[in-house]
Amino acid sequence: MGHSNPILPHGGRLVNRFLETNKSFDGMTFLDVSNDLRNDIENIADGIFSPLEGFVGKEDFQKIVLRGRLSNDLAWTIPIILDVDEQISIRMKDAREVLLKNNNEYFGLLHVEEVYSLERLSVSKALYKTDDLKHPGVLKISEMNDCLVGGKVDVISRISPSPLRKFRMTPLETRSEIQKRGWHTVVGFQTRNVPHIAHEMVQKAALNIYDGLFLNPLIGKKKQGDFKDELILNAYDSLIRNYYPRDSTVFATLHTEMRYAGPKEAIHHAIMRKNFGCSHFIVGRDHAGVGQYYQPFAAHEIFKDYPDLEIEPIFFPEFYYCKRCLGYSNAKNCPHGLEFREVLSGTKMRKLVSSGEKPAEYLMRPEISKIILSHADPFINTA
Ligand SMILES: [Zn+2]
Repeated sequence: MGHSNPILPHGGRLVNRFLETNKSFDGMTFLDVSNDLRNDIENIADGIFSPLEGFVGKEDFQKIVLRGRLSNDLAWTIPIILDVDEQISIRMKDAREVLLKNNNEYFGLLHVEEVYSLERLSVSKALYKTDDLKHPGVLKISEMNDCLVGGKVDVISRISPSPLRKFRMTPLETRSEIQKRGWHTVVGFQTRNVPHIAHEMVQKAALNIYDGLFLNPLIGKKKQGDFKDELILNAYDSLIRNYYPRDSTVFATLHTEMRYAGPKEAIHHAIMRKNFGCSHFIVGRDHAGVGQYYQPFAAHEIFKDYPDLEIEPIFFPEFYYCKRCLGYSNAKNCPHGLEFREVLSGTKMRKLVSSGEKPAEYLMRPEISKIILSHADPFINTA
């Protein structure tokens, strides 16, 4: 008998919004949704966003934006919302029950509970601490429709399998895996980058202390200049196969968009990993940040406001290669100056890629360098 996972889902119960039905949908009102939205609808159905059972209504929305909590006071920092234009909102209000359509497939139902308006400016300022359109989250809000629709969803059919979804796991699956392995402590790691050895050292430092590591890269819409999803996926797959102990590592992808909300998104990232069964979560420096919008340690500070989160944040110091220590060190255990430290920054990575030069093997595993350098166009280019 395995141990039961002591980590309850957020709000106490894992949401399941899958529906088996033979009902005829003839003549029903339908709404076409984007691939990004369909991902999040399936995330709701799988309980990744537990306790949310659908798109948030006005009361929850306002409290999330202003206070980082749901109307019942449960921690929640990123509103999961559905926007439509005014005409469609009127049709949806009348219909009450709306079919959800994506890529010519009816895949779910939305039970319309309320329609309310999106106050773009105040929402941007509250969520992202800025109204600068150069911020990708602010830009997205500025392009959204005027009306938000709140209501529960049901999913009838899952997104079709594809190479990018090969490693997706549901919270039910990860929880059963954790139970099977008898882990008491599980550390979640969020990433949207290809791994270099500094990342690996952080993850392995966690493995020195805790039972299991849950590596969970985020696959989905990202900003200009970020690595493409297939690279992140292939790089982690190869890294884990070559360098990680299989019996203490679970690798799965999370399919949702990056929102670049910095500290607020760090809380959101932790809540999703709690739903997957993690007891701990590694919070990076400038976690989910972009540009200079957030203080580097704001994503650490915010956890003080959430003593009730029930997933423990871990704040590791930054790891670097030290030429005098002859290995990976950090400011806590190495006395040597900046001149001895080497790290692969994003800027450095970009330079290496454009010159076709391979990073030193003590900075990046050769398998990963090969994956990046053999890709014709490794970075997202939305321009
Ligand atoms: Zn040193």
